Amino acid sequence: MKFKVLTLFPEMVLSGLHTSITGKAIENDRITLDAVNIRDYTQDKHGKVDDYTYGGGAGMLMQAQPVYDAWKEVTAAALNREKGCEVQRRSPRTIYVTPQGRLFTQEYARELAKEEELIFLCGHYEGVDQRVLDEIVTDYVSIGDYVLTGGELPVMVMIDAISRLVPGVLHNEESAETESFHRHLLEYPQYSRPEIWRGKEVPKLLLSGDHKKIAAWRLEESVRITKERRPDLYAAYERQENVIKQLSGNKRLHIHMMEALRRGRGEVLYAKDGAIAVYDYSCKTGLFTVRAEDDMQGAEDMISAIPEAVLTEMDLAVTTAEVLNHQLSRLRAEQPWRVSAECRQACYTQKNPLAVRHKDIRLLQEEELTCLPMHYACESEACLADRLRAKALFGAFADGKIVGIAGWYADGGIGLLYVEEPYRRRGIGSSLEAFCINRQLEMGFVPYGRISADDASVLQMQEKLGLYLSERHLWCLERKSWIN
Ligand code: SAM
Repeated sequence: MKFKVLTLFPEMVLSGLHTSITGKAIENDRITLDAVNIRDYTQDKHGKVDDYTYGGGAGMLMQAQPVYDAWKEVTAAALNREKGCEVQRRSPRTIYVTPQGRLFTQEYARELAKEEELIFLCGHYEGVDQRVLDEIVTDYVSIGDYVLTGGELPVMVMIDAISRLVPGVLHNEESAETESFHRHLLEYPQYSRPEIWRGKEVPKLLLSGDHKKIAAWRLEESVRITKERRPDLYAAYERQENVIKQLSGNKRLHIHMMEALRRGRGEVLYAKDGAIAVYDYSCKTGLFTVRAEDDMQGAEDMISAIPEAVLTEMDLAVTTAEVLNHQLSRLRAEQPWRVSAECRQACYTQKNPLAVRHKDIRLLQEEELTCLPMHYACESEACLADRLRAKALFGAFADGKIVGIAGWYADGGIGLLYVEEPYRRRGIGSSLEAFCINRQLEMGFVPYGRISADDASVLQMQEKLGLYLSERHLWCLERKSWIN
C-alpha cells in the first residue's frame, strides 16, 4: 500500500508515522509513505500558498494552483508506473480530509485498505479553493464532528488505522480481529501484571488457563460494554446475531455465511423470509441463500435490494440455489457471471482437535515462497505470497524439503491443499488439513471449506476426518472479466 500526502507540513506527517508500528511497516516495505510539500509547487515568488476568500469572511484559503500542481506530479508518477501493464489507467483515490466529509470508521478503513495507493490532501487555514477540490477529490472524509487546525492529524489517524489492516503490518491476521468494532462490539477489559494492584485483583477466570471459558467471558464483557456505551453498535450486533441464528438451521450449508459474520469479515446485506445475503469483504464474495431452490420471488427481492455499488465490487459469488445463479448471471449484462465450480461445503463442528499423523508440518515463512511446489496448479504465485504474508500457509516436510502445502483463503475457508505426486497416499494431505483445522479451532473458529462436488476422493477424505458435508450444493460464480 502506497500513501502520498499533500501537505504544508510534511515533517509533521513523516515524524508521526515513522514511529512505532507504522514506522516498522515502512521499514519493512509493507507500506510506503511520501509527504509532498505543496509550497514547493507555488508560482508565487514569495512562496505564498494562501489568499483571501472571495465574498469576505474570516481567514485565508489555500489556493488552487499549488495544490493542483502537487497533485498532478504525484499522480503522473503513479500513472507512469502503470504504463505497459494491462491495468486500466486511472488516478489513485484522492482523499480530502475535512469536517464536511463522510465519517471515518473501521468499515471505511477496511474499504480503503483494499486500494493499492491513496493520495491524501491536508487542508489548512479556512480550507482549500473549491475548484481544485472539484477537480481532484474522490472522497471527502472527516474524522469527527470537531474542527482541527489542519488536515495533518486526521491524515495520520487515517493512515494509522488503514495500515493496521494491510496484510503483514500487524503480527498476524488475528490482531485486528480481536479489537473494537469487530462484529460490531467494543473490546473487553484487559489486565496485565501484577495480579493485585492497589488491592484490585485480576478476574480469577483469566488466570485459570481455561481458554474456552476465557473466550466466553470476553464475549460477555464485550456485549455488556457495547450495550452500555454504544447502544447503536449493540443494535447492529443484535441484528447480526439474529441472522446467524436463522442460518444455523442448516449449518452445513451456511457455515461460510455464519463464519464470515462471526469472524467479523462480513456484513448482512439482506435478510427476509429465509432469503439472506451476506457480503464477505475479506474476499469480495457475495454469499446468497434462499429457502428453497425454486424460490424465485425471494431471489428477485434480494438481488434488487442489494446496492449496485456492492454488486459492482464483488469478484465472486457463492449461491445455494440455481435460481440465484440465474438471477446473478443476468444481473449485469455487460459483466455476466459464470459458474466456476459446483461444490459441497464441509465443516468441522466438533471441538476436539484432530490427530495429525505426519509430524513434520509447520507454518511457512514468506522467504519460503520460492521453495513451494511451483507446479501447483490452482493458485497463482501472488495468491500464495499473500497467504504467506497472512501467516495462513503450512507446509509438510519430507526428505528435507516441502512436499505439500495447505492453508486458508482470505475468507478463512480451508483449502490450497497440494501434495507432490511421489508423496501422495501417505496421509500427508489429510494431516495437512487436520493441522489447519486444529489451528482454526485454537483461534475459536468453526473450520470449513468448499469441496468440488465431483472430487470423490477429497470428499471422502472430509468424511474420514470427521467433517460434515452439506447435502445441497453451492455454485461458485466468477465474473468473466475477472477470469480473462
Ligand atoms: N473552514 C473549515 C470548515 O468549517 O469546514 C474548517 C477548516 S480547518 C480549520 C482546516 C483544515 O483542517 C481543513 O481544511 C481540514 O483539512 C482539516 N480538518 C479540520 N477538522 C477536521 C476533521 N474533523 N476531519 C478532517 N479534517 C479536518
